[in-house]
Amino acid sequence: MLIVANWKCNPINTKKVNHLLEIEEGNQDTEVVICPPFLYLSQAKEKLRNKDIKLGAQDSFWEDSGSYTGEVSPLMLSNLGCEYVIIGHSERRKYFEEDSNIIKQKVEKALENDLKVILCVGETEEEKKKEKTFTVLKKQIKGIKKKVIIAYEPLWAIGSGNNCNPDQAEKAVAFIKKEIDTKVLYGGSVNVKNASSYLNKDIDGLLIGRTSLKPDQFSTIIKKVKSEKQD
Ligand code: PEP
Repeated sequence: MLIVANWKCNPINTKKVNHLLEIEEGNQDTEVVICPPFLYLSQAKEKLRNKDIKLGAQDSFWEDSGSYTGEVSPLMLSNLGCEYVIIGHSERRKYFEEDSNIIKQKVEKALENDLKVILCVGETEEEKKKEKTFTVLKKQIKGIKKKVIIAYEPLWAIGSGNNCNPDQAEKAVAFIKKEIDTKVLYGGSVNVKNASSYLNKDIDGLLIGRTSLKPDQFSTIIKKVKSEKQD
């Protein structure tokens, strides 16, 4: 199982970073990945030095270096010791207008730099109502290599408290796995109460936003995964 924390644009100062990193570590069956903002990656690396917790970024650029003010490249991330990168999160698609072309370039450059890519896909509420989930997913993963990990994150479930029914999530995950032979995670309002319901499904892990900002609760989820899912 792969448990990924997406801190998004949090916390607002370095003092809180170490507290957020006081969490349960992974083991041979459960990989734990923390994705802080770029600014805190070095601090997190230092703090996690002797722990079985991997480092990930929330995004990366489509070039290795050059005149691209404000960007952080996958080469920089891998040189720093980052192993994972989230690409195509719905917030990047929505607020920064990242389209499939941009996302594809970012995925390719990250893979070239040996980063493990977690590509986020998922339908909007409206698309769900119109029963277009599979059509949307198919489009979003078109041309994606099987080296990429996919996170199924229905947009209506992210940050809403309205998590996707585990059976429904499993159906979407199964659809993705039919299209591309890879690991697929679920993300969207996962918390201590509902996390277990995804563990007895054919789902390879969880991508967790808000609950990863509560180290005690995030640790509880990791412990549950470690005890319930030993494969
Ligand atoms: C996310 O940001 O990818 C996410 C799943 O957020 P949350 O857990 O807060 O819904």
